[in-house]
Formats: sequence, structure tokens, C-alpha cells
Amino acid sequence: MALIVDFRSDTVTKPTQGMLDAMMTAKVGDDVFGEDETVNALEAKLSGIFNMEAGLFCPSGTMTNQIAIKCFTQPMDEVICDQTAHVYRYEGGGIAYHSMASVRLLNGQRGILTPELIEPEINEYNIHYPSSTLVVLENTVNKGGGSCYSLSQIEPIHTLCNVKGLKLHLDGARIFNALTATGDSAKNYGRYFDGISVCLSKGLGAPIGSVLLGSKETIRRAIKIRKAFGGGMRQAGYLAAAGIYALDNHIDRLVIDHQHAAILADALSKASYVASVMPVQTNIVIFQVASSHSAEVVVTLMASKGIACSITGKNTIRMVTHLGIDAGMIDFTLENIKNL
Ligand SMILES: *Cc1c(COP(=O)(O)O)cnc(C)c1O
Repeated sequence: MALIVDFRSDTVTKPTQGMLDAMMTAKVGDDVFGEDETVNALEAKLSGIFNMEAGLFCPSGTMTNQIAIKCFTQPMDEVICDQTAHVYRYEGGGIAYHSMASVRLLNGQRGILTPELIEPEINEYNIHYPSSTLVVLENTVNKGGGSCYSLSQIEPIHTLCNVKGLKLHLDGARIFNALTATGDSAKNYGRYFDGISVCLSKGLGAPIGSVLLGSKETIRRAIKIRKAFGGGMRQAGYLAAAGIYALDNHIDRLVIDHQHAAILADALSKASYVASVMPVQTNIVIFQVASSHSAEVVVTLMASKGIACSITGKNTIRMVTHLGIDAGMIDFTLENIKNL
């Protein structure tokens, strides 16, 4: 049977008709010359939303994160992040490869760091030690099952970084999910971070693209690094138009994805083959299968009913809601969860 409901990731979303129309009619130019007005408009729009000085459109979130890390470190420096961090686990070893920096891994609660966790891990100056120069937070935390920081949790981390002279970068691949869940305003983020990566191709539904936000000086440097990474694009406005459309049309609906995730979590917690479900905060549901079952068997059974999920560990399964999942698909999935 062909899969019909795809919960593997919020990256599987396809452009809507409205988005495609916006793309087809975009005004474009050569963005390496700075002449693509749609790319410029996207960068200005997003930096305005987060109250940052400037933005840089890139093909992927991996690229925006890696450019930021390159901007904020020198070889022999050390990056502090949670052990689940995407920048460490899922970016191909890029921190070592591009930036020649080492990494100090912390153990946050579902990936959420605190000043108390960070402070003892900051190296004071000593010729033996790598220099701690950058802290990276992730909001929401992918591996944490969509757990999120509120701004009140971020503020003291920013203060610590400021006092110790460290930069602070946000991997905000799902930052709009975090804002939806916490009710925080994006406008207040600018003052806490030196860099913010925002993905347009996750729950926002664009086919491609992430934007790095920062100061004018940071983005000036980031443009050069993007070029060296091979990420300078030409008539990229066709893609940026999808991003603008997503910001205008797909943020308000994220709350629906969160409701869908909560409904799925509730049904799963009642299923005999489920041992536990991580509390849902946003659009990601991670659950552990009972010891009498294996994740592989449950995922295969789900797939045979037309429901695609992903295995994230020997006993854990992940389901992600997104704009390709509607209420009818949730009802269908609930029936199948009950009668698997
Ligand atoms: C998806 C994701 C990224 C970026 O991924 P790309 O596929 O390179 O766009 C970065 N951080 C997190 C937490 C993610 O989930």
C-alpha cells in the first residue's frame, strides 16, 4: 500500500498552490550581485521580525548554522552545546571540518541548557585549554521531542555569555514553533543572540531555504563564507518568494500542528504497545515502545496501514506534524493507533 500519511518529518511538506503562484511570479535578479529584490525582501522581512540588523538567505539550515559557527569562532576555540544538538550530531562533523573548533557537550533536560550547566564548562584562559567562544542553543530541540525555551530562560544564558565574552547563536530551525508554544514575541529575540538560523523548509512549508540573522558586520562576513561554501546563488528569488509566502501564510497555522501532535500523543499513551510518550510541547511526538515490542515492528505495522513514522532509537519512534497533515488524516491515524 502506498503511504498516505507522512509523519517522518516536517521537511516532507510540498509547496501549496498559493506558494507556487508566488514563486512563479517572483521578481528576480543576480543575488551574488545583491540584485535579487525578492531575496533582499525576504532577508529584510525576517531580520525585521526578529529585530536583527541583517539577514542572509542560504540553501539549508546546516549552512546557516555552520556559517554562524565559522563567523563566531577561530581554530582552537571551543563551542558549547547540548549533546543532542543538531549542529554537533547531524551536520556531518562540520564544526571540526569548517571551523577547526572543538565541542563541549552538555546534558540538558531534553536538550534545554541553563546558565548553571554552562558556566562550569567555560574555560578560563589557559594555554592548555581550547578557548570557549560560542554557545549554541536549539529552539525547539529536535532530539528533545520539540522541547522549547522561553525567552525568560534564554535571558540569563545571554547574560552569562555577555559577562564571559562568549557569542550566543540560536539554531532556530523551528523557532516559530517555539514562539507559537511560548507566546514570546520574535521582536525580543534580536537582543539576546549574535546569530539566529531560521528554517523555511520545515513546518513553514517552503521547498528550500534558511536565513541567518545577525548584525551587519556578522552578515558581511557571512556572505563571504557562504560564497566559499559554494552557497552563493543567482536568481534565488524564486525560492525566497516561497519563504516570504510561508512567513505570511503558514505561521498562524502552526498551532494546528501542535494540537495534532497533542492528540496523537494522548492516543499513543493509551496504546498497549507504548511504554511512554514524551510530553508534547510543539509539533514533535517521541514515544517509547513497550519492552515486548520493538520500534522496527511497530513502524512496519504502521507503514502497512499507510502511516509513515521514523525510528529514532532501538525503542523510540518519532512522529512530526506539519502542514501536509489535516484533521482527516489525524482521525485516520487515531483509528489505526488504537487497532494496530
Ligand atoms: C532541520 C534542522 C536543521 C537544518 O537542516 P537542513 O536540512 O540542513 O536545512 C538545523 N537544526 C535543526 C534542529 C533541524 O531540525
